[in-house]
Amino acid sequence: MSGTRAAIVTGGSRGIGRGIVVALAGAGYDVVVNYARNADAAREVGKEVEALGRRAHLVQADVSRAADRQRLVDETVSAFGRIDLLVNNAGVAPDVRADILEAGEESFDRLVGINLKGPYFLTQLAARAMIDQIDRGVLTAPKIVTISSMSAYTASVNRGDYCVAKAGLAMSTQLYAARLAEHGINVYEIRPGIIETDMTGPVKAKYDDLIFNQGLTPIRRWGKPDDVGKAVVAVATDLLPFSTGQVIDVDGGFHLRTL
Ligand code: NAP
Repeated sequence: MSGTRAAIVTGGSRGIGRGIVVALAGAGYDVVVNYARNADAAREVGKEVEALGRRAHLVQADVSRAADRQRLVDETVSAFGRIDLLVNNAGVAPDVRADILEAGEESFDRLVGINLKGPYFLTQLAARAMIDQIDRGVLTAPKIVTISSMSAYTASVNRGDYCVAKAGLAMSTQLYAARLAEHGINVYEIRPGIIETDMTGPVKAKYDDLIFNQGLTPIRRWGKPDDVGKAVVAVATDLLPFSTGQVIDVDGGFHLRTL
């Protein structure tokens, strides 16, 4: 059993996903860069991976669609022959933030489809492939990491759909951690705080004020995609072998209660 480890990073073309892809390539992983629409961004990330001496394979797939999820796993196995790591990162914010007394089902269905159903069932597919590869002696100790959010436990009443989906990911992580331990597959949840990406672009001024003037986070700066990338690398390089179902906060201390 040898060879270069391979990872799937959903939504690996921009933002946090891009940071994770580059960090994994730097740690020696070949990477499947999944994206939904923006192929140019995915190609740019692919070039960064290759500049680090690793292989990149780009796969357009909408994680909310069952056929796309299957194709993503199948193409990964065709390209690299193995899945040592799945990173469920792809996610979207609500198109419009709306009070939960007004918000509609269309936004709820979209958010839950992409942010919760997608990773839940992609994990199922990837786990089956991993178990098969373990049984055939292709690899040992693959891992699954899901990027949730501080919204998993922080109530924002103008984006309840997003919070509900992220809270669901927290239980999804616990479920798969409990189920997959017997196969030697550890499962982790990474909870980013406020990270500087396209997603937070529209609310930049609000968060600038909260972080720098009001002390929302004990560490007074924006998080960077690379902050999350480093946490994924710690898991991917076996630095937490006796931990599973673990939540790793990458949030500048946002989760601390202080008095
Ligand atoms: P982003 O900059 O908007 O990037 C989103 C990525 O996901 C893009 O690569 C996008 O691809 C992809 N994507 C969107 N819909 C998809 C779908 N249906 N199927 C496959 N890929 C899809 O977002 P981000 O800020 O990096 O967020 C990444 C993850 O971190 C999300 O799950 C988000 O909820 C979570 N998070 C973010 C923050 C933050 O402060 N930014 C905080 C906590 C948690 P295309 O470009 O092709 O659309």
